[in-house]
Amino acid sequence: MSLILSHEDEMLRDTVRGFFNDAVIPHEEEVDRLGEVPEEIGREIEAKGKELGLYAANLPESIGGGGLNHTQMSVIEREFGRTSHALHSWIARPTELLLACQGDQIETYLKPCVTGEKRELFALTEPEAGSDAMGMKCNAKREGDDWVLNGMKHFISAPTMADFAIVFAATGIDETKRGPRKRVTAFLVDRDMPGVTFREGNKCVSNRGYKTYELIFEDVRLGPGQVLGDEGKGFDLAGQWLGMGRIWVGATCCGKAERMLELATDWAANRKQFGKPIGAFQATGFLLADMTIGLRTADLLVADAVRRADAGVMQDEDAAMVKVYCSEMLNKVADDTVQIFGGMGLMEELPIQRLWRDSRIERIWDGTSEIQRHIITRSILRPLGA
Ligand SMILES: Cc1cc2nc3c(=O)[nH]c(=O)nc-3n(C[C@H](O)[C@H](O)[C@H](O)COP(=O)(O)OP(=O)(O)OC[C@H]3O[C@@H](n4cnc5c(N)ncnc54)[C@H](O)[C@@H]3O)c2cc1C
Repeated sequence: MSLILSHEDEMLRDTVRGFFNDAVIPHEEEVDRLGEVPEEIGREIEAKGKELGLYAANLPESIGGGGLNHTQMSVIEREFGRTSHALHSWIARPTELLLACQGDQIETYLKPCVTGEKRELFALTEPEAGSDAMGMKCNAKREGDDWVLNGMKHFISAPTMADFAIVFAATGIDETKRGPRKRVTAFLVDRDMPGVTFREGNKCVSNRGYKTYELIFEDVRLGPGQVLGDEGKGFDLAGQWLGMGRIWVGATCCGKAERMLELATDWAANRKQFGKPIGAFQATGFLLADMTIGLRTADLLVADAVRRADAGVMQDEDAAMVKVYCSEMLNKVADDTVQIFGGMGLMEELPIQRLWRDSRIERIWDGTSEIQRHIITRSILRPLGA
């Protein structure tokens, strides 16, 4: 059972759950088998998401978004997590980085993402710069008022081909107290600009049908109007919003863990061996007990983090704790669910193996568990000068 919710949040949860049970979850098996979300299914989910006010629910009402607070968004994300990313991501929650759009950028990029006319990509990772984002080779050099962008990004994900990307590129070196540091700027780069290629990349076995793209930039000329936020402040901009992304990962992990726990509980109560339900054996029953404790703890961590975010006091380490704990809790729940199902847990006929595969990515994307632990360690030691 999830945490006690307010009446309004309960209604929100029940609305999303009803919609997903009726119109989203039934497509999971086909999407996993095809490795692709058929366009008409994706569009149906997108349309229904708009009808229910879930599309761009995270963005302010002043620009046409849903204007939900962080607590309400966590309720939605938790429900979304019960199914595959390949399906729920058709209901876009455009990155809040786009709120840094100014002037013409608002009409060209921000508002079309709110209405669904456009989709964006968040393009930070490169083949040789994953956890070490500062190792990026993608760079933009000044030519007069313009910038010339070169480099490559990979693992850039979306449910379907996007219209533009927020691309992080090195635009120089800053001297800091800790030595020279790459100066990084965020650019808005359209798919159809000369020198830009967006193409499908590696296929992931978690959330099959959720695409990753490779983006290639060859002497792409960008005017000053393509800079998002301030020049040289790309990481500051990303840093303002990355934390919330990690909390949403935590919330989706809780949703998926809850679904697996329901399936495991049902199996433990009904599968009989040695004349008894297998749940009656302490070895199985205790797995269920530990899963329940893990899920409740993870839900509390998410609830605490969103309250901090709503109060404007959420720190990087709060988000990192949520990301590590919830994703690792989910992976334990997923593995134990397979164990409780025995051989049937690995058979394609049941959803268990799929949910288990889908769970695995959560410890990797949005910063691996190891990187989150670095963030937490830094917050503990830095005040002591260590
Ligand atoms: C399906 C998918 C979708 C993605 N979507 C996007 C996206 O939309 N946009 C985007 O920019 N990126 C995206 N990513 C990239 C994702 O954020 C990276 O995969 C992740 O940050 C890890 O980078 P890496 O895969 O290069 O692994 P690496 O950085 O090579 O890490 C490999 C291993 O080494 C460990 N490691 C590395 N450095 C350290 C260290 N200092 N201390 C301890 N351990 C360390 C890591 O924790 C990991 O276990 C996506 C990835 C996937 C798989």
